[in-house]
Amino acid sequence: MIKFNSKLGASELSIFTKMSAMATKYDAINLGQGFPNFDCDPHLKSLISKYLDLGKSQYALMSGVSELRYSIAAKCNQLYHRDLNPDSEITVTAGATQAIFTVLTAFVKAGDEVIVFDPAYDSYKPCIALHGAKTVVYELQAPDFKIDWQRFKSLTNNKTKMVIINNPHNPLGTTYSENDLLQLQEILSGTDIIVLSDEVYEHLVFDNCLHHSVLSYNDLFNRTLSVYSFGKTFHITGWKLGYCVGPEYLMSEFRKVHQWNVFSVNSFVQYAIAEYLGDESNYLTLSSFYEKKRNLFNNALKGSRWKALACKGTYFQLYDYSEISNLGDTEFAEWLVNKHGIASIPISVFFESKRQDNLIRFCFAKTDEVLVEAAEVLSNI
Ligand code: PMP
Ligand code: GLN
Repeated sequence: MIKFNSKLGASELSIFTKMSAMATKYDAINLGQGFPNFDCDPHLKSLISKYLDLGKSQYALMSGVSELRYSIAAKCNQLYHRDLNPDSEITVTAGATQAIFTVLTAFVKAGDEVIVFDPAYDSYKPCIALHGAKTVVYELQAPDFKIDWQRFKSLTNNKTKMVIINNPHNPLGTTYSENDLLQLQEILSGTDIIVLSDEVYEHLVFDNCLHHSVLSYNDLFNRTLSVYSFGKTFHITGWKLGYCVGPEYLMSEFRKVHQWNVFSVNSFVQYAIAEYLGDESNYLTLSSFYEKKRNLFNNALKGSRWKALACKGTYFQLYDYSEISNLGDTEFAEWLVNKHGIASIPISVFFESKRQDNLIRFCFAKTDEVLVEAAEVLSNI
């Protein structure tokens, strides 16, 4: 064997892969990894066939097929009042994971610092480490996980290259208010700090609230690359299609990396999504669709020993299991899948400190029957 220094050291399999494998092993209901257990709209599938039949099988443009970039621009204009140039401010990616990696590769160098809010989506920190940069953690506190922006400001210095925000937030299910974004905008004003805004759950915001996107704030937009995923929006997590939006001077840097890494994303899927996006009801109905599922699941658990935290967005619901067990959350999640056949995601893994709050995450992107069945099992614990 040859010798080498591993770039990611003792990096483990992601918690999502681990819990899905356990769900299969124990033949459990999988409320762990975030994906729907139902199919996408048959019309969307027919559009895939349509564009395959039309011979859309060769390379797309590096930035994405123009029909899709124009559809995305129209949506961003309508929802966030941002007039994007589809030719220079939008790039189609192979999912949000790739977009996140590409943003970090384009801008973050060894010695830089990147501020991340813990608990943080699992791909951020390994990507920061791969670029030789340091993650600076802001730990959010249960039960409301609000950001104290002055405390955030105290973490910034002349090494801070980037801050990563995630709104709506996975795994917490919290959302940013207008005030949060205004404060962030104000604090970063006059600095060279770039924002990476992960908004993959933009269309999953509940209780008649609106998603506040960085795209709606001029100064913030001018220092931000934001990433989105059609996987969440159209129930197609396996198709791996997303996009990145940002001002031209940042997007051109993004594309320098994208060109040599991915070059372009599968073309027929892009054409199909472009047409599907044209009907706004395909994404504007998503929040009410998932809000019903959240309510169904939570109502079925009322009166049990599980305590729900507020879920304002995403398709994840946090539960406090303190009344049931004093096991650590990873052991608890393993026990739950093994003993009761319900897979979940422990929250401590998303904290650098591995902080234990006795919380686990359930994904409610499941058919009503599965949610009822799972809730029945859980209520009896
Ligand atoms: N960011 C967050 C917060 C996520 O939950 C996910 C998982 N869907 C991603 C990024 C990655 O999205 P994609 O599947 O499009 O790569
Ligand atoms: N985003 C999904 C989740 O939070 C997982 C995606 C993955 O497994 N990489 O469950």
